[in-house]
Amino acid sequence: MKHPEIIKKMSLEQKAAFVSGFDYWHLEEAPALGLPKIMITDGPHGLRKQNKDKKASDGIGLGNSVPATCFPPASTSSCSWDEDLIRQEGEALGEECLKEEVSTILGPGTNIKRSPVCGRNFEYFSEDPYLAGKCSANLVNGVQSKGVGTSLKHFACNSQEAFRMVINEVIDERTMRELYLTAFEICVKEAQPWTIMNSYNRINGVYASQNEWLQEKVLRDEWGFKGLIVTDWGASVDRIPGLKNGTDLEMPSSGTLNTQKIIAAVKSGELDEAILDKRVDNVVDLIVKSKPALEKKHTYDVEAHHKLAQKVAEGSMVLLKNDGGVLPLKKGQKIAVIGEMAKAPRFQGAGSSVINPTKLDNAYDELSKLGVDMIYAQGYEKSKDEVNEAMFTEAVKAAEKADVAVVFAGLTEAFEGEGYDRLNIEMPDCHNQLISRIVKANPNTVVVLAGGSVVHMPWVNDVKALLNSGLGGQAGGAAVANILTGAVNPSGKTSETYPLEFSDNPTYGNYPGGPVTSEHRESVYIGYRYYDKADKQVLFPFGYGLSYTTFEYSDIKLSADSIKDTDTVKVSFKIKNTGSVDGAEVAQVYVADKESTIFRPVKELRAFKKVFLKAGEEKEVSVELSKRAFAFYNVKLGDWMVETGEFDILVGASSRDIKLAATMTVTSTVNAEIPDYRESAPAYYTADLDAMKGAQFEAVYGQKLPDPNPDTNKKIDLYCCLNDARHTKWGGRICRLIENIMSKMGSDANGDGKMLAAMATQIPIRNFIAMSMGVMSEPMAQGLLMILNDDESSFVGFNKLFWRIGGALTRLPALLKSI
Ligand code: BGC
Repeated sequence: MKHPEIIKKMSLEQKAAFVSGFDYWHLEEAPALGLPKIMITDGPHGLRKQNKDKKASDGIGLGNSVPATCFPPASTSSCSWDEDLIRQEGEALGEECLKEEVSTILGPGTNIKRSPVCGRNFEYFSEDPYLAGKCSANLVNGVQSKGVGTSLKHFACNSQEAFRMVINEVIDERTMRELYLTAFEICVKEAQPWTIMNSYNRINGVYASQNEWLQEKVLRDEWGFKGLIVTDWGASVDRIPGLKNGTDLEMPSSGTLNTQKIIAAVKSGELDEAILDKRVDNVVDLIVKSKPALEKKHTYDVEAHHKLAQKVAEGSMVLLKNDGGVLPLKKGQKIAVIGEMAKAPRFQGAGSSVINPTKLDNAYDELSKLGVDMIYAQGYEKSKDEVNEAMFTEAVKAAEKADVAVVFAGLTEAFEGEGYDRLNIEMPDCHNQLISRIVKANPNTVVVLAGGSVVHMPWVNDVKALLNSGLGGQAGGAAVANILTGAVNPSGKTSETYPLEFSDNPTYGNYPGGPVTSEHRESVYIGYRYYDKADKQVLFPFGYGLSYTTFEYSDIKLSADSIKDTDTVKVSFKIKNTGSVDGAEVAQVYVADKESTIFRPVKELRAFKKVFLKAGEEKEVSVELSKRAFAFYNVKLGDWMVETGEFDILVGASSRDIKLAATMTVTSTVNAEIPDYRESAPAYYTADLDAMKGAQFEAVYGQKLPDPNPDTNKKIDLYCCLNDARHTKWGGRICRLIENIMSKMGSDANGDGKMLAAMATQIPIRNFIAMSMGVMSEPMAQGLLMILNDDESSFVGFNKLFWRIGGALTRLPALLKSI
C-alpha cells in the first residue's frame, strides 16, 4: 500500500464511492484528506476536454471540446519511426493537459493492427509490436515528464470495433505474448504509464475488466506495473469480480449503483475489504501524483505546438513512389491542384479521439504561400461518393493545362470511425475514377493520399508519384506543401504493409468474426510476418519509404559470433547519405531464426534507428540485441525461450529491402521442451491459411474451441445487447428503428451515424443502466428484457419501461450535463 494513512481514515462508504468516478470525466474527491477532484479525459493525439460552455453539435458531446493542438494520430506519427519526435509530442500534450487542468490523458492506444479494416486503426501505431511499443513508451515518457498521467489503452486484444463490448477474442497465449501484449509490455517496462485502460472485449471467454490472469499475473506480477487500472468507458461488467480481478477504477461513474453493491459485498463477506483498500490506494495514488503539477497555473505556446505538430507530420509522411523524380516540384512549373481535400483536409480520426484544433492548415493555402503557380479544381464533393461530371471535366481541363497534376484523394470521414469496422479497403470510388481520368490528361500525375489505414490503389501503376500524407493533424497542410516542394525531404516509412489486394490479408474472410467469437486462426502471422512467410508479393512492404536522397549501407559488425541467451550482442553498421540533399533514413534490424521446432515468422523487427545525415555524411549506427530478440514464447515453459541455433541479423531499409546480413549462434541456457506442431498443425509451418482452422487451429489454441454461434434459445439478459435480440419480433424492430434514426444523425465525429448505431445496438443492456447515471433503472431494463424476449406479457414490459420514462426524463439533463 502506498497511502495506508489516508485509506485508514476513509469510511467503507467513501472507499466504495472512490473506486467509481464522480461523473463522466472526474474522480471522486476528499478535500478533508487532501484529495482534490481530478479530471481524466481523451486523448490520444491531442486533448479532448469537453467544453461545458458550448453545445455539442452531435448531441453526444463528441464535437465540442476546448481548442487543443491536433497532432497526427498514431497511424501517421508511427511512420516517423522517430522516438525523440514522439517524445516531444508527448511533452507538448502534457503541457496542454496542465493548462486545461487535466491530470491524465486517455492514451496512447497501442493495440495491434490485426486487419487493415479495423475502424479505429487510425488511433493505433502499427502491425508490429516492437514499433508500437517504442512509440507508446516515448509518448508516455514525454507526457509524464510534465507531471501528467497517461492511460495506455485498450488492454488487451482489442483489434476490432465490431461487437467490441461483447466479442470473445479466441487467441492462443503465444500469439498474445508475441504480438498483442508485447507493445503494452514494452511501454510498461520503459515508461510506467500512470494508468492502463482495460478493453471492452473478452479474451478466451473472460472480460478484460475481470481477467485476473491479464491484469494481476501478467501486468502487475510479471511486468511490474505500479499504476492504476481503469475500465474503458462502460467496460465494467460485474463490479465485484472486477475489483477482485484487478480493476481499480470504474469509469464513468455508475451513479450509486455499484457503490451500493460494493458496500453490500464487503458487509456480506463476499468482498474482502483488504482488496477494496488496494484498489482505493491506487486511485488515491493517482490523485496524489497529479497534485503537484496541477497546483500551479500553466499556459502553453499555441504557435510552438502547431509548429511541433507540423514537424511530426513532416517526419511521418511517406513518399511511396517517385518515378522520374517528378517530386519535388520544380520552380516555375504550373501545378494543377485537384481535389477538395487540398482545401478541406481529412486530418484526424473520429469518435472519442476527435480534437478541436487550435488552427487548421490546408495544403492549397500553404502551397500558395510558397509561391507555387496553381490552378485549382475541386474534383469531387468530399461528403459524397458520387462522380460529379462537371467537376471531373473542370479537373481534367486543369490537368491538361499544367506541368504536373497533384490529386488529393483518400479516405474521407465517412470511411473510418470508432465502433464499426470498414467492410473493405476501397477508397471512395469517385476518387479512384477521378485519378484514372487525370492520369490520361497529364502523364505527370502525383497523388497525395489521406487516411488512417491501408487502401487499395487500382491506379497506382499509372501515377508518377505518391505521397501518403496519412492523417496529418492540424499542420498537415504545411507538411504536405513543404514535402511537395522539397523544402522538407520526406523520411517516413510505412508502419503497416500495403497488400496488393484486400484478399491477400491473412484475416480476410475471418475478420471481424462475431457476434460471439473472433478466432485468431492466423496466429502469429499478422502483417509482414504473414506476407513474408507465405512469400506473397505486396504493394508497399512494412518499413518502406522513399527520400529525395539516397543512402548506402555498409560494414555490418557483430560484437560476437556466438553468445549465450543471457548475453547481449552489439550490431553496428554504417549509413552514408550518397545524394545531394540532407535527409534521414530509418534503418531496421530484423532477426531471423534459421531453423526452428516451433513455427515462426521468417523474420521479426527487433531494433531500429532514425539517422539524420547531411548530404555526403556517413555515420556509424549501433543497436544492442538481448535474449528477447531471439526468443519465442514457450507456453510449456511459461516463459520466453531461445532455441539453440543460428540466427540471421538483417539490416534493412525496409522489411523487403535487406541491405546487410550477418549470421550468429545463440545457445539456450534453459532446458525445456519446445512445442512441436509439425504433426498436429503443419499448415502453420507454411502459413497455409486455408488449412489454418478447425483441428489445426485447435491444436495451436491448445484447448477446445468455443462455440462461435449465438444461442438463440437462450433468454436475452442484461449481458446481451440489442443486436443479440435481432431474431425476436421486437428485438429486430427496435434494432432497425435505432439504425434508421442514427443514420440521420451523421457527423464527422461519428462516421455518418454508424458509430451511434453500433453504440446503441452493440452495447450490453447492463450498460444502459450503469452508464445512464440513473436515467435507466433496473426495473426499466427488466421491462426492456421482457419486450426483447417476446415475453407473453410484453405489454407489462412496455409498461415497466414507459411508465417510468417521466421520472427518467427528469434525470436526463443531469446526465447530459455530466458528459
Ligand atoms: C473509448 C476510449 C475512450 C473512452 C472515453 C471509449 O469508448 O474506447 O478509447 O478513451 O471512450 O471517451
